[in-house]
Order: sequence, then C-alpha cells, then structure tokens
Amino acid sequence: MIIKTRFAPSPTGNLHIGNIRTALYSWLFAKNNLGSFILRIEDTDITRYKKNSIENIINGLKWLNIDWDEGPYFQSKRLDRYNYIINNMIKQKLAYKCYCSKEELEKNKIEQILIGKKVKYNGKCRNLNNFIHKDNKSFVVRFRNPDNGIVKFNDKIRGTIIFHNNELDDLIIKRTDGIPTYNFCVVVDDWDMGITHIIRGEEHINNTPRQINIIKAIGAPIPIYAHVSMIVNKSGEKISKRFNNMDILQYKKSGYLPEALLNYIVRLGWSYGNQEIFSLDDMKKLFNLKNISKSPSILNINKLIWLNKYYLSKLSKTYMINYLTDFFEKNHININNGPKVNDLYNIFHDRCNTLKEITNLCSIFYRTPDYSKVNSIDKYLNLDTKIILNKLLKKFTLINVWSLLIISSSIKEISIKLNLNFSNIAMPLRLAITGMVNSPPINYIIYLMGQKKVLKYINNAINFISLNNIKL
Ligand code: GLU
Ligand code: ZN
Repeated sequence: MIIKTRFAPSPTGNLHIGNIRTALYSWLFAKNNLGSFILRIEDTDITRYKKNSIENIINGLKWLNIDWDEGPYFQSKRLDRYNYIINNMIKQKLAYKCYCSKEELEKNKIEQILIGKKVKYNGKCRNLNNFIHKDNKSFVVRFRNPDNGIVKFNDKIRGTIIFHNNELDDLIIKRTDGIPTYNFCVVVDDWDMGITHIIRGEEHINNTPRQINIIKAIGAPIPIYAHVSMIVNKSGEKISKRFNNMDILQYKKSGYLPEALLNYIVRLGWSYGNQEIFSLDDMKKLFNLKNISKSPSILNINKLIWLNKYYLSKLSKTYMINYLTDFFEKNHININNGPKVNDLYNIFHDRCNTLKEITNLCSIFYRTPDYSKVNSIDKYLNLDTKIILNKLLKKFTLINVWSLLIISSSIKEISIKLNLNFSNIAMPLRLAITGMVNSPPINYIIYLMGQKKVLKYINNAINFISLNNIKL
C-alpha cells in the first residue's frame, strides 16, 4: 500500500501551531513511509472565508519547508463531483431532501429539550418522494444515517472508539444554497485522492463516525485515523484561534528559524526516547504514529527560545548569513550602509536568542545615537567623561590602519594614562558610539562601525556634553 496523507486546512484564518503540527505529522508520516502528501484547501464554506488565508497557509508551509506532492486542491472547484455523488445518493435513497423550515427545526429542538431527549432531526422528510418537486421550496440534502448499530474504529493514537448510531443525526450534506458541507466533501476527497491515513486534531473525533457512515454508504475504503490531542497553555487552557495562538508567520517575523520551530512543534506530542534535537532528516527517519502521546501538549515558549538559540549556532554559517541578509532586508536595514553580514554573524550569533534580537543589536550600525533618549545620560556623558572622550577622539584620529588589535591597545593605553580601569573608559565610549548601556564588547563594535562614524559619534557626544553643561 502506498501511504498517502493530506493536510486539509480551511481558509478561515491564519495558520497557527496546532495546524502546523497536523501538517507536519501528516507530512512526516508520508515521508517516513516513502508515501506522498497532499495539500487541500477546504473552502466550501465561503461565509467563514478570511481574506489572505490561502496565501498565509501556502507561505507558512513554504517557510517551514513542508512541501506537498500534489495540490493544492480546492474543494470549491470540485462542486460538480460532489453534486454528482449526492444526486446518486438521493436516487439510491442513501440521502434525501429535507424541506423543513428553520422555525420547524427550532420548534422540534425545543420540544426535544423539554422532554429531555437528545436534540436530533426528527426524520420528518425521511420518506418523502424525492422526485416530486416542491416548487421553489428550498431544501437541504440529508444523509440517511443508519438507525441502529454502532460505528467502531481503531484510532492509532487513542485505540478503539465506538459511537452508537442512534446518537448520530441525519447529517446535512448539502445546504439550501446548494453547497455541500464539510463532512461530505472530506469523505469524497479522501476517497478520490486515495488518502490512506488521516492525521488530524481531536476536535474531529466526533465527525469521524458520521464520515465513516457516509464512506460505507458510498462504498469507499475506510482510511486509518489518528486524532492528535490538543495543545494547551501552561494553565491547561486550550489554545484557540483567538487565544494564545500566534500566526505561524509571526514566528518568522519575530526571528525564529524554521528549523527551531519545526523541532519544537514535532515534540509537542511526539517523542523519541529522550531526544530533544531533531533535524528535518532525523524527523523523517524517526517519525511514527506509535509515539504520539494521548495527553495534551503544553506550549512552552522558553523551549522554543532554547532551540532557536541552539540552531543559531548549529546551522552552517553560509546558510545563516543568507538567512540573516534576508531578515535584515525584510526589516528595512540596508546592509550596504554598515558592516558585512559575515562580521555581524560572527559577533552576534551566539549572543542572541533570535534573529530579531540580532537585528535590534545591529541597528546601532545604521543609526546615529540619540543621547537625549537615554535614561540618566549625565551619569555617562558628563564633564569627567568628556576628558576621556577627548583623549579617545585624538587617539582614534591618529590610527592609520583600523584594526581590532590597534583599537584595543589604544583603549588600553588611555586607561593606563588616565589611571582608570577599562570599564570606566568603556562605558562612556559605549554610550557615545551606540547610545546604549549594553552592547557586545565595545572594541568589536568600534572596529565594525568604522573609523569615520566612530570619530563622528565621539565628537557628537562631546558636543552633547558641552551643550548640556552650558544650560546648567
Ligand atoms: N478542514 C478541516 C479543518 O481545518 C480539517 C478536516 C480534516 O482534517 O478532516 O479543521
Ligand atoms: Zn425535513
């Protein structure tokens, strides 16, 4: 059997961690078994459609390198196929038209609630002759669910699951607007597309017996199911579209690497001994359904940060430089106006957790420091430190070959001359050059900043001190 899985998002919003986990598990399972993986957009319910979500889905998957062998298929383009099957089902009395109005259904519902019965369609139209047309009367098509017996399936994560048919409704498979519904389309698609394994969120467990009944009615093969448990936050609350759930591309913007995010997501519910680090190849080689956990997985952003830091150092320098260059561009940093990305990578990659942090630190190379924005600036830029800055300015002006070694020894020389320790010199210098209280080693920064800017900024700081002190 050739394993075939699918990711079937509805374009009703952006992709989040939960969706990606479903996609990743389905993709890895296919890859692990040398099978194929398809992408299908379930877009029949246009009332729930959110603009740009298809683009967001595709871009998110691409960013994470989750590629598909077939698709994207769009359900909205397959309406003829669905209608063909529905018409056949009506002919074979596997489905029927229901003309009940909203009011009638509502009344029926209230009656059932009042007598303490489970709310279900009362079957009024089950035995109408579907070939007598009721002029212009709108109708839905309902699936004739079996009255008795059970639906049983063996979930790969949860074991045997049983539903009783008398708990299941006669499901609407086509709405009054003529559009078939999710539970029906999904069955036809999985059949037509040869899907062997359905890996999806546990919120679909209740749909499964309904889908299996339709599958049996139309004579399609029953796929193997694996329903993955939900993801919760630290307090055990389910993450949802509105709550605690960031758009996957937001992780990209925040400077996480796809390698780190995938590694993080694969471990949200799947394990392989105590192993924490999984490259894409490891995942493809090791992934299985057996090790998916039944219990909810807990989001832990600190773990993602830890993984991201790990991959910042672990991934090849060439790859990281390309990625960083791209990230700078997206953040409107013109790398031609500052140090080489290669140098930036060298000093920053093992000091930062994310590319965003690297970008924030690097911003010192692309802007003139604004001392007026620094808290208690006169602690660092005052008449005492002005003496130090003047000495440094003179010394740096005289340097012919701007090298790290010469810069370091110049700073050292001045600290000896003024009988001050290094930090007393470094602090005002750091402020003058970067406008920040914290930075990586200042000699590196000075070297990368270049002589011209360094002289200019020290000069600016000296002028700032003079001006401030006149006002006083
Ligand atoms: N379109 C469904 C959803 O986004 C998924 C359907 C399925 O996996 O069967 O939840
Ligand atoms: Zn009816």
